Amino acid sequence: MKLRAHHILCIQGYMGNGYDKNFTNNMDQIVKHLKSNPKSKVTIIDSIDCICSKCPNTINNTHCQTQDKVKTLDLNVINLLNIQKNKTYTYDDILDILSTNLSIDKFNRICSNCQWFEYGYCKDALSKLLKIT
Ligand code: SF4
Repeated sequence: MKLRAHHILCIQGYMGNGYDKNFTNNMDQIVKHLKSNPKSKVTIIDSIDCICSKCPNTINNTHCQTQDKVKTLDLNVINLLNIQKNKTYTYDDILDILSTNLSIDKFNRICSNCQWFEYGYCKDALSKLLKIT
């Protein structure tokens, strides 16, 4: 599976909400698959992925309506979490990287401009992953 870099954070905070039913049905399957198959192979990219492919914000299956914003999110995840673009990891490797390299400060820097940030789901989920109470 190919995932754009910032989606590894979205997956942690996902609570079943999204842009429309088509999007959430797809996201449900992807999240369920990764959580039940931690050895799944995930290649990190910074372009349209299997989550974008069912998103109403995808244009011509080539780019996102908010392309500049999401590219910045991807770049920040790659740089701040020391992840390599185009490298294939297992999903549990990615969870280890998040536990080791992410902090709440980095999370705020990466995600504070995201429309979902204000709901707090992502911060709660990542705090649990980082064992911050
Ligand atoms: S198309 Fe844009 S808004 Fe939709 S999932 Fe992809 S990056 Fe997110």
